[in-house]
Amino acid sequence: MKIARAAVQPTFDEAWTTGGGGAGAPVPRAPQAPAAPRRARRAGAALALALALALAGAPQAAPAGAGLAAAAHAAERAAAAGWTTAQMAARGAAALDVPPAAAGAPSVRVWYSPRMSAEARLVGNLAARSAPAVFHDLGVRPPARVTVVLEPDQATMNADLHLGSSASPMGAYWRGVVWVLAPSAWLGPDPEGWSAFSAQARTFAHDGPVVHELAHMALDLKVAGRAPAWFDEGVAQWEEARRTGFVWREPANDLDQPLYSYEELSRSFDRLSNVALAYREAYVLVDALSRAQGGHGLQAVLDRMAAGATVDEAAHEVLGAGYADWRGGAPWRAAAAADAAVARAGAGSGAGAQPAAGR
Ligand SMILES: [Zn+2]
Repeated sequence: MKIARAAVQPTFDEAWTTGGGGAGAPVPRAPQAPAAPRRARRAGAALALALALALAGAPQAAPAGAGLAAAAHAAERAAAAGWTTAQMAARGAAALDVPPAAAGAPSVRVWYSPRMSAEARLVGNLAARSAPAVFHDLGVRPPARVTVVLEPDQATMNADLHLGSSASPMGAYWRGVVWVLAPSAWLGPDPEGWSAFSAQARTFAHDGPVVHELAHMALDLKVAGRAPAWFDEGVAQWEEARRTGFVWREPANDLDQPLYSYEELSRSFDRLSNVALAYREAYVLVDALSRAQGGHGLQAVLDRMAAGATVDEAAHEVLGAGYADWRGGAPWRAAAAADAAVARAGAGSGAGAQPAAGR
């Protein structure tokens, strides 16, 4: 999930109304909408049933069970796709289909409120253009189609994701579906009409959640949903930094302060109070993994996880003698030293230089 630093004001108060015949009345949402960020906090009954049926008798993480677990994971995604299609139809959403950007790349379907066709086109084109590199980087064969729900405002998005009103996700990934907050909801209207080269559109491409959420999808498919939360967010940020250059930096995630331990990240990533710090620590750990084995370390870790290893087992195998230092926080100390060197080298290039939107 990509989180904006501060909650934004809803821009559209009649979200998801039908274009005609609805007389402006919002279409009620289903009370059991099963979407949740990254992990299902409240799965819908149909999804829970599908999962229970698929998981019955599947030994966890054992090689013999890997196929069954993958099948269960695929069943979850199929159920979520069905739920999304039904929801979007009930809301009177329009669908935009963007063809693949290259042979073997996925097409993109964007569900959107009919008044937001320009933003839907921007988001769909960006997703189609970004997908080949993201799936390639993480060593995953892309699905035939990527489904994106373009949410018109923060309130609608939070309701769909079962988040409190103070949450400020600008993107989320959940069981095969990417959720994107409309660029206008956090950047305001675009005087250039959301053309691909407008200043607003360029800001959205750099600071927005599209690459981040596609990376969650690629990782999810690669390891069949078995990525722990810290690793999931670390990989999404790593891919984002690689492809857009965006790195979430702010004073709250400076590394010259008491840090969360690897054990804390592993055990309770979603409950740590300094979210900016937890995310940065996760990113730095993944970045360190990626530098192992001549720059192929992350790929090696993912391949082992795809074969059934936990992230710990995979990191241990890939890092070898360096595993204990990595787990003990050596990458954070190195990054803190690099930050200090940058700060000494001159003013104006340190923390705070990043734009206001984080994840
Ligand atoms: Zn994320």
